[in-house]
Amino acid sequence: MTLLYKSDAQRGQVWAQVFAERMPALRLRFWPDLGDPAQVRYLAAWVPPPDLSVFPNLEILFGVGAGIDHFDLAALPPRVRVVRMIEPGIREAMLEYVSASVLALHRNLPQYLRQQRERHWQPLPVVPAARRRIGVLGIGELGGAVLRHLHGYGFDCAGWSRSPRQLAGIASFAGGEGLDALLARSDILICLLPLTEATRGLLDAKLFARLPRGAALLQVGRGAQLVAADLLAALDSGQLSEAIVDVTDPEPLPPHDPLWQHPRIWLTPHIASATRAEGSALAVLENLRRHDAGEPLLGEIDRTRGY
Ligand code: NAP
Repeated sequence: MTLLYKSDAQRGQVWAQVFAERMPALRLRFWPDLGDPAQVRYLAAWVPPPDLSVFPNLEILFGVGAGIDHFDLAALPPRVRVVRMIEPGIREAMLEYVSASVLALHRNLPQYLRQQRERHWQPLPVVPAARRRIGVLGIGELGGAVLRHLHGYGFDCAGWSRSPRQLAGIASFAGGEGLDALLARSDILICLLPLTEATRGLLDAKLFARLPRGAALLQVGRGAQLVAADLLAALDSGQLSEAIVDVTDPEPLPPHDPLWQHPRIWLTPHIASATRAEGSALAVLENLRRHDAGEPLLGEIDRTRGY
């Protein structure tokens, strides 16, 4: 059986080593060296080849990233299972990025940077963590981990998901009505939703208006969830105080885009979190073991939900 790998070459070398040690029976091929396409049972890719019908025995398409929103699910043969990447490195890096961002917002670091540029010495009131309300859109692998982690700092945390979720000590809301309640109590709103038709453009003027005045946004989901013009307007009007934006649409962000220059935006180039090579190889091996044993796969996409 063959796994065809179509992604970053350096990471591919790590996969080759891990597979050789732990599953020598699995043959790893590197795109575009297909060999006999009929032998390809598994494919791992960031961007899959456009025509998968050349692989008549393909069983699983492994995405190498946490999201598969750039896959055209409708074009994939129905028999092919689609699995996204869940591995500890993605979670750890996201916890670091979100903690750094939330603590910076909580302790007014963006404001102090602006003050420093103006040589303005002005201490600002310190809000106790227990009085800082954090709202997380998405209580999945990452949103759930972020909520538990921020709860550990003593923040007043709540999350929002499609179906009801329970996390000890953390308020949770679900569905359309739940969103209003979550937004109304979010001084810092963190987006950790997958990009689907339901979440595209969700971060818009209507949503910002439902946040407490002066709330801050941390956007670490996907670029197309944010209506950038609405964010700029909300910052200019004071409805939002600050935004930290890691994902944009398009990426890279064109040089003339106003998001670059806004004094209340911190922008990073989609680096909040990324798959690590060894962890991702081990995650694929674990899913191959589960596949053989007839057990549920970790991170399998429900095509009807789109995530
Ligand atoms: P996940 O485990 O699939 O969790 C997704 C969460 O979002 C679930 O709680 C889900 O609700 C909720 N959700 C989805 N659609 C919704 C809707 N229409 N209304 C309300 N809730 C909805 O995904 P994850 O692993 O946590 O990753 C989340 C996203 O983070 C990824 O898809 C990707 O876009 C982003 N990400 C960004 C970076 C970066 O570097 N910036 C890195 C990794 C991931 P249910 O619980 O009801 O299913």
